[in-house]
Amino acid sequence: MPPASAIPAPFDPVRARQDILQRIARAAEASGRRAEDVELVAVSKQQPWERVQRVVASGQRLFGENRVQEAMQRWEGRRDGLELRLIGPLQTNKATDAVGFFEVIETLDRERLARALADAIQTLGRAPRLYVQVNTGEEPQKAGVTPAEADGFIVLCGRTYGLKIEGLMCIPPAAEPAAPHFALLAKIAARLGLRKLSMGMSADFEEAVRLGATSVRVGSALFGPRLPRA
Ligand SMILES: *Cc1c(COP(=O)(O)O)cnc(C)c1O
Repeated sequence: MPPASAIPAPFDPVRARQDILQRIARAAEASGRRAEDVELVAVSKQQPWERVQRVVASGQRLFGENRVQEAMQRWEGRRDGLELRLIGPLQTNKATDAVGFFEVIETLDRERLARALADAIQTLGRAPRLYVQVNTGEEPQKAGVTPAEADGFIVLCGRTYGLKIEGLMCIPPAAEPAAPHFALLAKIAARLGLRKLSMGMSADFEEAVRLGATSVRVGSALFGPRLPRA
């Protein structure tokens, strides 16, 4: 038997959540903001259900998923009192499912999708809150409107499709410091009069809070490493 100290303690998502909430609060207060103005979105994609369940039981209400079908299978019948957010790319042929299922869709990024969402909202009589994803790093492989397109796209969403946009979301390039991207997203939101900013993940959520995030999307730091998809 190795000494007890050599056995790593099992990852405890409930304690990790307490720690993350404290770090969010400290980062908010250090930048003159209130802790309660920043929400923690627990990114539960590819996490074993028992971890997710413990976090639900500990009082977490907001969860993020990046695939429509996976989210529906996992959360159907288990989501009373919770808010589910779609944070992954949305295909137009899944727009109706997404509108029927999520409280928030954070990845609106093109006109075809705006039209599909508007149609689904009309048909279902249910309207999720919407964020526009901005590709702040202008990476060709990444979803999102460019910073230059953001203003025109948001006007188009409102005028042509009757979609009210609540905020902006970004995923900075993995290989760059995130802070300039967070600052850019905050600047675009300010000029558009949008008050909600979804930015910051496990590695950089405190930085995001200091730069104005109103929600941070934290997965692995909260639940532990994700399982590979089958
Ligand atoms: C997976 C994912 C996250 C969470 O990433 P972590 O680094 O595990 O915190 C956040 N945002 C989006 C859009 C994601 O797809």
